Amino acid sequence: MPGDYTRCPFSIGLFLSSAALVTYLTRLDKPKSKPSSVVLPDCQVVFVVGGPGAGKGTQCTLLEERLPGGWKHLSAGDLLRAERQSGGELGDIINKKIANGELVPSSITVKLLENAMNAAYHQNQTTNFLIDGFPRSFENMDAWKEAMQRHTIKFMLNFECPEEVLVGRLLERGQSSGRSDDNIEVIRKRFHTHQQESLPVIERCAKQGV
Ligand code: C5P
Ligand code: MG
Repeated sequence: MPGDYTRCPFSIGLFLSSAALVTYLTRLDKPKSKPSSVVLPDCQVVFVVGGPGAGKGTQCTLLEERLPGGWKHLSAGDLLRAERQSGGELGDIINKKIANGELVPSSITVKLLENAMNAAYHQNQTTNFLIDGFPRSFENMDAWKEAMQRHTIKFMLNFECPEEVLVGRLLERGQSSGRSDDNIEVIRKRFHTHQQESLPVIERCAKQGV
């Protein structure tokens, strides 16, 4: 019927997913622990990037232990996996994206990073952060700039490693990691995402001297 667009299943679906995203981000905005009146000061940030299995997390753990000045390691992937397990409204969206080796909407990832930075500051007054697995796309970078522009990006560390070595490592890790995405089918999709979305942003940052 002309003009009867209100019943279009696509519009209804789009409306419901937008509503779910807004509800979710509103909920993420509310701190889970006691609110503090102390605001997160401007921080120093190092982005740590590289293909799946490149050793970003392992190196960050070492850097966290050895760098002077108190650096806190935050992994975007770990934060997303933790949020998925907490059964949040968009847990299944995060699940589907991770299970497909695709990127979760950047607004969610950046909000989780912001919450984790706030929590670390309130716990230990940390203002130095090693952020692993971020940015992975121009969309990630844009969302960061929108919400986190005031923090200083000191530099970006990029770990490079041949793909066949990465595949071997991920398959080995998959035997004990319990990660749904450490299997050959999803590993291939993760490499595809890395090539299509992550490498261009890393290349641009390198050109800009980040
Ligand atoms: O870095 P890690 O391998 O733990 O990331 C696992 C998954 O988390 C990615 O394949 C992707 O689905 C999701 N992720 C994301 N955006 C990021 C980092 C991770 O969507 N910036
Ligand atoms: Mg990791």
